[in-house]
Amino acid sequence: MGDIVIVGAGASGISVLLHLIEKAKNGKSLPPITVIEKDTRFGPGLAYSSLCSGTIINMHTDTMGLYFDDPKHFSRWRSELENGPFPSRDIYGEYLEDMSHQALNAAQQLGMSVSFVHDEVTDIERQNDQSFVLTLSSGGKCLAGQVVMAPGNFTSTTYTHLMNQPQFLASPWPTESLKSIPADAPVLVIGSRLSAVDTAIALAQNGHQGPITFMSRSGRVPTVQGDPEPFPRRYALHILAREIEANPSDALIKLMTCLMDEIDYINNGDWSWFQKHASPLQELQADMKAARDGSAHWQTVLRHTAPVIERYWSCLPVASQKLFLDKFFSPWMRYRHGMPIQNAQKILDLMEKSQLNVVAGERVDWDTEKKVFVATTSSGLIEAPYVVEATGQECHLDRISSPLIRSLVTKGLFKPHPTGGVDVNFDTFEAAPGLYVMGTLTRGTHFYVSAIDRVAAHAARIADALTQDPRANSLHVAILLGSDFLSHIIASDLIPKLLSQGHMPFIFICQEEQGSTTLRASSLARRESHFFEVELMRDHFQPFLQAQNLKDSRFMTIEQMKSTYGLFVQDISSVDDKTFLNTLKHHFIDVGLSLRGSDRARKIAGSHFSSESGYLLNLKPTFRRASHGRASRKTPIRTRASTCSKIRTIVKIMLVVKLCRRCYRLSSR
Ligand SMILES: Cc1cc2nc3c(=O)[nH]c(=O)nc-3n(C[C@H](O)[C@H](O)[C@H](O)COP(=O)(O)OP(=O)(O)OC[C@H]3O[C@@H](n4cnc5c(N)ncnc54)[C@H](O)[C@@H]3O)c2cc1C
Repeated sequence: MGDIVIVGAGASGISVLLHLIEKAKNGKSLPPITVIEKDTRFGPGLAYSSLCSGTIINMHTDTMGLYFDDPKHFSRWRSELENGPFPSRDIYGEYLEDMSHQALNAAQQLGMSVSFVHDEVTDIERQNDQSFVLTLSSGGKCLAGQVVMAPGNFTSTTYTHLMNQPQFLASPWPTESLKSIPADAPVLVIGSRLSAVDTAIALAQNGHQGPITFMSRSGRVPTVQGDPEPFPRRYALHILAREIEANPSDALIKLMTCLMDEIDYINNGDWSWFQKHASPLQELQADMKAARDGSAHWQTVLRHTAPVIERYWSCLPVASQKLFLDKFFSPWMRYRHGMPIQNAQKILDLMEKSQLNVVAGERVDWDTEKKVFVATTSSGLIEAPYVVEATGQECHLDRISSPLIRSLVTKGLFKPHPTGGVDVNFDTFEAAPGLYVMGTLTRGTHFYVSAIDRVAAHAARIADALTQDPRANSLHVAILLGSDFLSHIIASDLIPKLLSQGHMPFIFICQEEQGSTTLRASSLARRESHFFEVELMRDHFQPFLQAQNLKDSRFMTIEQMKSTYGLFVQDISSVDDKTFLNTLKHHFIDVGLSLRGSDRARKIAGSHFSSESGYLLNLKPTFRRASHGRASRKTPIRTRASTCSKIRTIVKIMLVVKLCRRCYRLSSR
């Protein structure tokens, strides 16, 4: 295995490095790693550098951790909390920079060879032995066995015919450049999504007094993010992924129908939030109210699509992907990627004092006589001496001017995806053997690629591929529980761990049947057993947990877990064998963990796993005879493992699940 070279030290490059270091901590031996970054700072990239000063992050702080299994890592790192869930991009940039230092220190302690090089990669050549030679702008060369391309965002410039006009800003970044616009000048901003919002806010912060117009095809601004809330049917989105992977025909229709059903359910059939208002101002006022009231429940369905949407996307034929991008992308972005409420308030203030207008339109020309730009819009012709294009990121390879990207396409190392970006392997992110790609450039294959939660998940998968670890798939895990105390404690510790690893647990409660081995004990033992198994849980532990603040609590009742994590829970004593078996089948259960399931539940689950490929791990405690002390040799004494040793079994379970994850392959891929 030759050296690993990571091109670009933004969030993507650093996240790959951190995941590789985790592998080394777990004993994996790694080749030397070189990270090459053209900027002087390692970590911030474009979005969190001083180029975007004065703006705040657009995603909730709890989604911005760089480790795929620890999304709150950034929230814990933050020392200032006064800025709430959307701190400044500068702070996030500091986090990324700090993580790059921490990665270097950790690597040194582990004796790994990791080097950071400040240079620009201008070309990559494949050698006859399949390794790569990277050309650097300094004139040097760098050899690599495997290359991770993480070059980040390429600003979209659609209005190339305006490029020669000095008062046309092809991008709002750096925000500093907006200061060149006179404070009273009318400004036309092309676009009305989050980049346009940032542009207007940066202009207002610069003391801009002149009129600002957002012009976009939709003529609508993003919705307003309400507080995150749990989605009680989160599992349904995972089942949907499995359903369309198993049968991709009419996937787009199935997807839309299912998502609309889920939204209908969570919003109690109220679709008023979806209606178009008479004006963008009224629309924003209504969105603000819903976000403040906490009534924008539909947002939770869209938010919870984050880990599965790439699987939905990969099941769509290219024609459906193109149809979606053409007809539905704009509304998807409006509803899925709302503004943080503080930004929405600033935009509302600007609109209420009529400084900011939002119009529909596409065309902008330069009037050579009047020396102004003229936009053709739904509100007629609008003249502005300044135009800022804020249409987001470009992923179409033929529109990216980078010589490196062009060269990789010419050499056949990058093949364009029909819906944009580079065609990469869905699991490994390989564009060609040994050449991996991350970030915006993979939008065609994965659709949702640039938010940090996805960056971290993709980095983990690339780290798996770089180290030849098999792809870890998301498993559906049935947890068979009794009504007892200990199995609930184990479940409550295990379930968040499974979720953080990308698995979806399904809970089946199975009361112990009368006459089963467990209850066949003396009456004293039975009463004692009943106390520990049922009463302790029902009369003491559950009320105790219910009284706890969920946020601070390590353990939860099943009901609390169900609503917090959106889990499927079924009491199988209320259903017949066939229904239980069908539930396992229709929920695509891959692995079963019997923590204290009844004999009946284990038997039925066992038959499910004998027909489907999968595993049933039985962790039910067993009887043992006393062998010492005053107890009679014949007295059956239940061995109750201590809480500690039970909790230790969680670690074992996680290892087994990890193993299953590795062995398991989705048959549809
Ligand atoms: C303005 C803006 C705001 C955003 N806000 C959010 C947000 O709030 N929350 C969120 O989750 N996502 C946000 N995003 C999405 C954002 O894309 C990701 O969060 C993240 O920054 C992507 O990281 P990256 O490493 O892929 O790209 P980048 O951060 O752009 O890093 C790429 C790095 O590669 C370097 N590089 C490029 N080419 C070369 C080369 N040839 N040689 C050497 N080095 C090279 C660049 O200098 C850069 O440092 C935002 C994006 C933008 C553009």
